[in-house]
Amino acid sequence: MKKLVLFGPPGSGKGTFSAQIKKVLPDIAHISTGDIFRENLKNETPLGLKAKEYMDKGELVPDDVVIDMVADRLSKDDLKQNGFILDGFPRTLAQAEALSEITQVDLLLLLEVSRDVITKRILGRFGCNECGEIYNKYTLPPKIEKGEDQWICDKCGAEIKFEQRSDDTEETLKNRLDAYEKNAKPIIKYYKKKKLLKKVDAENTLDLSAGDIKKIIEV
Ligand code: AMP
Repeated sequence: MKKLVLFGPPGSGKGTFSAQIKKVLPDIAHISTGDIFRENLKNETPLGLKAKEYMDKGELVPDDVVIDMVADRLSKDDLKQNGFILDGFPRTLAQAEALSEITQVDLLLLLEVSRDVITKRILGRFGCNECGEIYNKYTLPPKIEKGEDQWICDKCGAEIKFEQRSDDTEETLKNRLDAYEKNAKPIIKYYKKKKLLKKVDAENTLDLSAGDIKKIIEV
């Protein structure tokens, strides 16, 4: 049973890397705070509407809101046997400290990528509205093209158009990268001190084999 944290700037490939881990540990829960907020926003819940104010500007949602949400998710029974991948949490030192109060994680994987790759990944990424499969216009388009910026989803066969996430713009990207850099240092230091930090070269995570992944997550 593994309790993993994926850490890295927006566009470092946390979602893609989580999918790679799930190939090795199919039952592990993937908990993405960004996905939970987007789901709440879609359903127009109070939590979603509150988070929207911050997400639209590329700012962090306040700690108390995120921490309560994660504490609630981590209390669910399915995690006791299968463990979890936390993707996008903690994003501040207060969140890291709160997480230590809730549970002891096994590893924090720090995904390292160049700014160039980040920009391409963020400005080109889109997903299938039907099954959630993630693509990139520049680096990983679906195989069958139907027209300009239109494809057939490789996974479920639905028609998909290139639509950026509303916070994947150049302006919010700058805010999100600035917020990341400001908050990352103390978090990295915190996990280094606990000897739980492991750096991962994330320029090409799609090329990793199951064996590579197992080595990285130590299973
Ligand atoms: P992500 O999909 O991880 O890039 O998250 C999208 C947005 O959700 C972020 O830009 C924040 O506004 C918000 N968010 C996600 N996770 C957190 C977190 N741990 N703390 C604060 N805000 C978060």
